[in-house]
Amino acid sequence: MEQFQTYLHNYVQLGVRVGVNLQPSQTLVIQAPTTALELVRLAAKEAYAAGAKYVHVEWNDDGLTRIRTELTPEDAFDIGPSLRAHNYDRLIERDAAFLSFVSANPDLLQGVDPDRVAKVTKAMRAAMHNFYAGLRTDKFSWSILAVPSEVWANKMFPNEPEERRMNLLWEAVFRATRADAADPVAAWMEHLKQLQAKSDYLNAKRYRALHYTAPGTDLTVELADDHLWVAGDSINEKGTMFVANMPTEEVFTAPKRGGVNGTVRSTKPLNYAGNLIDGFELTFKEGKIVDFKADQGEETLKRLLETDEGASYLGEVALVPHASPISDMGMIFYNTLFDENASNHFAIGSAYAFTVQGGKTMSKEELAAKGLNDSLTHVDFMVGSADMSIDGIAEDGTREPLFRNGNWAI
Ligand code: ZN
Ligand code: ZN
Repeated sequence: MEQFQTYLHNYVQLGVRVGVNLQPSQTLVIQAPTTALELVRLAAKEAYAAGAKYVHVEWNDDGLTRIRTELTPEDAFDIGPSLRAHNYDRLIERDAAFLSFVSANPDLLQGVDPDRVAKVTKAMRAAMHNFYAGLRTDKFSWSILAVPSEVWANKMFPNEPEERRMNLLWEAVFRATRADAADPVAAWMEHLKQLQAKSDYLNAKRYRALHYTAPGTDLTVELADDHLWVAGDSINEKGTMFVANMPTEEVFTAPKRGGVNGTVRSTKPLNYAGNLIDGFELTFKEGKIVDFKADQGEETLKRLLETDEGASYLGEVALVPHASPISDMGMIFYNTLFDENASNHFAIGSAYAFTVQGGKTMSKEELAAKGLNDSLTHVDFMVGSADMSIDGIAEDGTREPLFRNGNWAI
């Protein structure tokens, strides 16, 4: 019990000190589910200890989310999001940092009309465009940490006695985020350094394209002009380092919008808008998804691809070795935050402006000219496995092994 409290404290400390890396006199915004009351109090305490001026909390509740998705009148999907956006725009002006505790329930919106789900998601994305643009361009510090829930624990450990499941999930979360390290902040600094070494290597190589092969996958992905490989740490507008996702094991960059060709098969289920999509295959021609199928959730996948024009193109290519702390646990978390860090992945939708040199200050048109995709959505999906090979293709066409048997070959 005592150890649990220590790890819990380590966890919020990582969120505040490494995740958003809160600076003295800043405002901290915590987004959290109502079930995370204890965690939020601990985080608020840690924030004030770090010199915060004010800690603002935005609560959410799964039950209420479902009620709103089902019952909001068709012409009123924008009311909630626009009120929230109003608040957020003021907080951004105050130089706030944004720490999110998320507790994704993959089955939350099961059975709800997918059309309504899509409209709710779209209304939120549209109203909060300022906030999402800030996320994409690293305007402010932001970080996402998972918070275990009973639904999630039940999904992950159905064969364990009910009373043990939450604890097992917490243990897995602590391990995956290195919150169980003796000095978790130091452990993170070392980890970030190693990721940086990989991105430095790739940035020096400047590959024109990557070629992926695995069972069901034969895909060539050209990289954006002046693309930049990025590791887990980011720098905000003020020059402060932060870590947007904890855990993070990936180095990633932007694909060239029109330069993706071939077929890719998913290797882990994707939880999207409260529904599970599994066993799916996407076929690309000149960047565009021209064909798709899924063993489960094909209708949800279709809705995702129909979000807007950019939702038929890729916006992120991320490299993660098959051997990583999360992957080594051999668990499927049914949560992209964890599962994406156990596997090579791509994202459908928008590219991050900071994945191209000088991109943070470029206009939409300039980013598009570099080959970056734009969309209201950005959804990671996993394609890595122990059977995956990746070659780096240089400007002159020569090939180098980058991944073999799912792991780095460099
Ligand atoms: Zn990613
Ligand atoms: Zn992503």
